[in-house]
Amino acid sequence: MAVIAVAAAGPAEEEAIAYAEVCLSTTFGMETRRLGPFPDPEYAYDAARNQYSSTLVLREALDRRPADALKLMVITDHDIFIPMLSFVYGQAQLNGPAAVLSLSRLRQEFYGLPPNHALFLLRVRKEALHEIGHCFGLTHCSDPLCTMRLSTNLQLLDEKQAEFCGDCATLLRDAINTSTTGAIK
Ligand SMILES: [Zn+2]
Ligand SMILES: [Zn+2]
Repeated sequence: MAVIAVAAAGPAEEEAIAYAEVCLSTTFGMETRRLGPFPDPEYAYDAARNQYSSTLVLREALDRRPADALKLMVITDHDIFIPMLSFVYGQAQLNGPAAVLSLSRLRQEFYGLPPNHALFLLRVRKEALHEIGHCFGLTHCSDPLCTMRLSTNLQLLDEKQAEFCGDCATLLRDAINTSTTGAIK
């Protein structure tokens, strides 16, 4: 059976990782396997930005992916970025094996607001599905409710649902069938 591996990189809230695992296994119909924690990604730290390069974390993830894991999601509490943006919630390789997800900006506390754990976990679900969706070849969707919609801020993230729209769900089903049966596209 196809496996999605999940690993913490540096500090990462255990409950959020466990919840992401459940979301991934039920949504993608695959087993998840928790790997031992990856080292704190100090190599990716950018002191000028006080953030971590998601591209470097992703590169490290590729080296550490077990050969039998179809996809790998790395989860961290560190705030992450790509050079052209002030931050990202996550980053994934389109049609590739690895994705990274940051929990940092999914918490209300990040914005000086009172904690809302249910909202935090819902955001974790949306972003976990979104990034692994990219790994299965899905691109950004124009449906405002689809979880594959690009979210560059919390308003957009909170507006969308933690589900794929019909079109994305169809593409996803095909991609999963192809990748788990070894058929050539
Ligand atoms: Zn995206
Ligand atoms: Zn969609």
